[in-house]
Amino acid sequence: MIAFALIISSGCVSSESVYSDNNPNESHPDLNADPILSNASGQEEQQPFEPEPTTPLTNQSFLTVHFIDVGQGDSILIQINDKNMLIDAGDRGSGDRVVEYLKDNDIEELDTVVATHAHADHIGGMPEVLNNFYVKQFIDSGNPHTTKTFENMLIAIDEKDIPFSLAEAGQTINLDPSTTITVLNPAELTGDINDDSVVLRITYGDVSFMFTGDAETHAEDNIVAAEYDIDSDILKVAHHGSVSSTSPDFLELVNPEVCIIMVGADNRYGHPHQEIIDRLNLFGCEIYRTDLDGNVVVKTDGREYSVETQTSGLVIPMTAMTFAMMVEA
Ligand SMILES: [Zn+2]
Ligand SMILES: [Zn+2]
Repeated sequence: MIAFALIISSGCVSSESVYSDNNPNESHPDLNADPILSNASGQEEQQPFEPEPTTPLTNQSFLTVHFIDVGQGDSILIQINDKNMLIDAGDRGSGDRVVEYLKDNDIEELDTVVATHAHADHIGGMPEVLNNFYVKQFIDSGNPHTTKTFENMLIAIDEKDIPFSLAEAGQTINLDPSTTITVLNPAELTGDINDDSVVLRITYGDVSFMFTGDAETHAEDNIVAAEYDIDSDILKVAHHGSVSSTSPDFLELVNPEVCIIMVGADNRYGHPHQEIIDRLNLFGCEIYRTDLDGNVVVKTDGREYSVETQTSGLVIPMTAMTFAMMVEA
């Protein structure tokens, strides 16, 4: 707790330098965009806020999302236009694997690292990641945990003097101008570590992803009540497929085509729960599981996407294939 408070006060940057609010009624600073435009008369004027700034997509430009198999835990790498973002780093025994995976993908620095929440299966590998790569900004849920694992992460952040910010619903994270990353949770801290998970929706062209950490039904209800646009083609199923998450109401609004469960084989929690598998099947989404499929990589040009798994190679989900055929016709 002490270390956490210390880092918040000594290592943090103002949230404005990392995020821009998603409130269209105010003007907003943006790290990657010049807020000042010149009009025809040469006078400077404030650029109106664009809630979803996008640049034209080209076939050379792909957003790639790697769901790294770290056993029972989460670690997700997002790549777009030479920008790299990591969400979680698996448990303590997975740090090496995450570092190796990033190095295999020629990564030398991480523009953004997000710790969805303080549980060991999400942040245990974080010190190794922070010690192996230059990290430009670190984003945390703000709900601390009284564990050595959490303290080790904070020590690594402090030693590297990494700019540290807290996520709050409604903010956007600036990774690349082509991509919109919206924070959907936490709106306010509840004290429940899973429910305070950082939940993110990423859109690239017409393709969208939802990353849920271990958020449970209470958080999902809050997100639904806030009336965000949460429709997403690809869903990282919350909490390793636990029945405490992925409520029917939330799932219906997310309306995913592809559902990815990050889970370890024969884990002691019985994840993923059969009820959730049945629910996902009922909704008709294609299910991928890191315990069965290994690493799962989704690549999109902003119009279509493909799914590649470590065990099966390239798999085009039926929904996307149907869509591609419709586009070709
Ligand atoms: Zn958790
Ligand atoms: Zn977890």
